[in-house]
Amino acid sequence: MRKGLLAGNWKMHKSKKETKEFFSSFINKLDQFKKDRPLDIEIALFVPYTLLEAALNQNAGNFIKIGSQNIHAESKGAYTGEISANMLKDIGITAALIGHSERRQYNNENNQDISKKIETCLRENITPILCVGETLEQRDRNQTEEVLKTQLQEGLNSISDIKDLVVAYEPVWAIGTGKTATPDMAESAHLYIRNTLMELYRSDVSEKTRILYGGSMKPSNIKELTQNKNIDGGLVGGASLDPDDFYSMYERFHR
Ligand code: PEP
Repeated sequence: MRKGLLAGNWKMHKSKKETKEFFSSFINKLDQFKKDRPLDIEIALFVPYTLLEAALNQNAGNFIKIGSQNIHAESKGAYTGEISANMLKDIGITAALIGHSERRQYNNENNQDISKKIETCLRENITPILCVGETLEQRDRNQTEEVLKTQLQEGLNSISDIKDLVVAYEPVWAIGTGKTATPDMAESAHLYIRNTLMELYRSDVSEKTRILYGGSMKPSNIKELTQNKNIDGGLVGGASLDPDDFYSMYERFHR
């Protein structure tokens, strides 16, 4: 049985003060929740580099996983402006988003760059969340499965053991647009991803890998999305910025 995962991507938002306010409100709500029911869904927050330490400090003693939104594939060197996986590990970071569509779009990251980053994360024991997904034009041309297969094949190129890697299916047309894939659309893409992982690895690897849905997920649609067999959770942008919305997603997560 795969454990549910609710992950938030703060993108380029929030100050240190706002981070403290978010955590104190969100953790307070989780403490109330915990009185009646166990916290059986994992939570992760991917925050800007400048907020990693504040988030770690706020979260001390709690179980929210704090992650970065990117890493550099090399461990050190003349890469001005970059942050390596072992630098992140050094401050206590245990997860990273890799290949988010905004990085593919604005930073020209390709599947080869992404596979190097995934390899680095796995070597440094940082859980990578590999983001994949088609654009609207690709969906309209019926290329969704082909795009997903290429992103998985090339993004996981020659990595023999994917350990605890998580995949996030994020249709580009649904990110930050308010448009959400229907539960059927999302479930069929997730099933396709799981079958592709089975072809690339083994069925036990594919069965244990968590696949998250991302793209305008919010309190009003999380339940119907997470009710599907192959949707193990969500990667949430906009709605993760507000502690009330993010908590209400935790409450409505189908378990
Ligand atoms: C994301 O940034 O990964 C995302 C899914 O954003 P949003 O929820 O705002 O669509």
